[in-house]
Amino acid sequence: MDLPVDEWKSYVFQKWSLLPKSIQVTISTAETLSDIFLHSSLLLQPEDEMFLQNLSRGYLVEKDPNAPLFYREEGNKKFQQKDYMGATVLYSKGISHSRPHTADISLCYANRSAALFHLGQHEMCLKDIMRAQMHGYPERLQPKMMLRKAECLVTLGRRQEASQTISDLESSFAAKPTLAAAQFQILQTNLCRLKMKAQEKESLTETFPAALTKALEDMDLKGENGQVPSASSSVSLRTDPLRGRYLVATKDILPGELLVKEDAFVSVLHPGEMPPLRHLESKWDTRVTNGDLYCHRCLDHTLATVPCDGCSYAKYCSHDCMQQAWDLYHSVECSLGGLLLTLGVFCHIALRSTLVARFEDASEVIRKLCGEIRNRDTCSPERETLVQTLTCDLGGESENKGKMLEPPVPGCDLNGKYESNYNAVFHLLPHTGNHSPEHRFLCALSVSALCRRLEAASCYKPAAAVPPGSGSELDVWGVAMLKHVLQLHCNAQAITTIQHTGSKENSVTNSRQVRLATGIFPVISLLNHSCSPNTSVSFISTVATVRASQQIGKGQEILHCYGPHQSRMRAAERQQKLRSQYFFDCSCAACQNEKHSAATGPRWEAFCCRSCGALMQGDDVLICGSTSCTESVSRDHLISRLQDLQQQVGMARKLLRNDEPERAIQLLLGCQRDAQSFLSGEHSLVGEMEDDLAQAYAALGDWQKSATHLQKSLQVVEVRHGPSSVEMGHELFKLAQLFFNGFAIPEALNTIQRAERVLMVHYGPWNDEIQELRKMKSCLLDLPPIPAGPSV
Ligand SMILES: [Zn+2]
Ligand SMILES: [Zn+2]
Ligand SMILES: [Zn+2]
Ligand SMILES: [Zn+2]
Repeated sequence: MDLPVDEWKSYVFQKWSLLPKSIQVTISTAETLSDIFLHSSLLLQPEDEMFLQNLSRGYLVEKDPNAPLFYREEGNKKFQQKDYMGATVLYSKGISHSRPHTADISLCYANRSAALFHLGQHEMCLKDIMRAQMHGYPERLQPKMMLRKAECLVTLGRRQEASQTISDLESSFAAKPTLAAAQFQILQTNLCRLKMKAQEKESLTETFPAALTKALEDMDLKGENGQVPSASSSVSLRTDPLRGRYLVATKDILPGELLVKEDAFVSVLHPGEMPPLRHLESKWDTRVTNGDLYCHRCLDHTLATVPCDGCSYAKYCSHDCMQQAWDLYHSVECSLGGLLLTLGVFCHIALRSTLVARFEDASEVIRKLCGEIRNRDTCSPERETLVQTLTCDLGGESENKGKMLEPPVPGCDLNGKYESNYNAVFHLLPHTGNHSPEHRFLCALSVSALCRRLEAASCYKPAAAVPPGSGSELDVWGVAMLKHVLQLHCNAQAITTIQHTGSKENSVTNSRQVRLATGIFPVISLLNHSCSPNTSVSFISTVATVRASQQIGKGQEILHCYGPHQSRMRAAERQQKLRSQYFFDCSCAACQNEKHSAATGPRWEAFCCRSCGALMQGDDVLICGSTSCTESVSRDHLISRLQDLQQQVGMARKLLRNDEPERAIQLLLGCQRDAQSFLSGEHSLVGEMEDDLAQAYAALGDWQKSATHLQKSLQVVEVRHGPSSVEMGHELFKLAQLFFNGFAIPEALNTIQRAERVLMVHYGPWNDEIQELRKMKSCLLDLPPIPAGPSV
């Protein structure tokens, strides 16, 4: 998804392999990015563009006039089945394919308002009713919708508006004898009921979920950092030849302290599974993707998306977000949806970065790029003039200034300030020399193709600092985009969110981390990697926060994990991953320790002896670790047993999903007996089975048994991830829910406290789970004291 689709990749690699040797050498040995870009760009032929265009056409990104009816009908089916959530998403899909001010769009909004009403989303319902009206909802259908509006207003306690709507409705009934008698009667009855409800309802305090805004405001950094405004004053920016740029603690830092709070310079929502049409049976897809649930710009979760007027793939949480996105970048991107999906998220971010740069002072960067292009040996005459125009217009004076005052740390401005801006993004390392020549060619050709399309569409307004002129100023931005694509390999930051799953009935939620988007965060990019980091990164919207996950002493480096974490991968695997993606050999404390420790592998992957239970050791043939035991077995044999077991557990999970907890429990208990004969008690599968059992018992309402199993799972999680890890926090949260549901008050209060303590360190106070824990706590504390009855 980050890189271009496979078809385009193999096409370009083939093209590369057929190039004359001399050209391959020229590109492989090119010293600057502009050389790579301009050479590759000359090789892009019309047939290549045609091939790419055909691939892009495979994505449904335009508005399809026949889609709204299809999605509305599919939505109505879900609505009838009382699957209001499913219906909402399908109506949203219908909306995204509708043109403004059509019957299609107003009908979809109106239907969605009904689904939202059933979901208890009254504020959103009201907004959709307004939208339906704005787009010309048919007069004859109005009364029913107005009734819904009145009902929402009553429920929200907005009495004045409610009674206004009710009296409007009454007068419209009086004025419209055209309504069928039966229909009129139903409406009349409903209206009476509603009037009574409105009178009953005294005043209900309006509660707006402004939690998000509050969350961002309350998350303030402890003291401003003059050098790096997105970081706290507890850290400072350093640079040395070995570590490059990095952050270091200037004082002792406690766990949970907020160290960096940075909004993404640019972020791009992952479209989720969005297979091209040629891979699909039907043209329309009823599956739910990220794009249906999260705002294209701010990444907020929303059930009521508002689409772009021009395309079907960009959907937003609000009209404001849509407008902002349009002004900043979407006016250019709107018609390029298919191409951007084909070329991948990195190309998309690269383009968006240069589009956003138009609103900043990027003269420094442009001067650098122009200089690079000018210094090429083989410079075509037109380019020479272009470059001359560019540099002249920028003014000779500022050019000299730039030379005199080279900032000490790359990415800082002339005052030595490192801000989350385009200048900082531009100075992230592209590691050009580390990428293979084929890969560089792929990136350069992809960016060239993007530039050609921009040129053809003439929709690309260059940055203010680039003087207007010939289309070839796109060369400057092409080089910049190529640089961004290469930078992203090491600097892309996954923006994740915690998705909660779990049925409403058993009120125990499972959470899993999902990748929502990819972004560039120049300040977070300053952090070096460790396989056992001392920080924890989380996101609210597009804002990342970095908190200390443990005590950090003054002078210690602030470290962040790039992905390969010691609790998820073995050292060798991590090293391989870091070398291939980030081009370095890790020598963090975890890697050092593992080098010296015995080759038993991590405890959560360990096998145990079937006769004595001791851990097995060795590579291909495993030998019992106990000196008094002679048991041995081949690793392959154990691995195939493990795979069988995993399959069984998978079946049990399927039973759980299909609402057959009893059968799932039977199967899982059998699996447990099997596991005991060859897996260590701390094996991650053993923990997962306990977790599944806990879920199954919860589904049966047996909270006590459920809690017992979850506590065992907790032990395994603790061994693997540590007692204060975020994984531990999520497990404790679940355990708290179980105790809460089972009215085990002292246990619940104790677990709530533990969960809160752990989650606070990683997420800060405005995390959903922490809010939920606090609600649970106040609910338990408000309970009347249990009367001291006779003990039985
Ligand atoms: Zn938004
Ligand atoms: Zn659009
Ligand atoms: Zn390491
Ligand atoms: Zn043994």
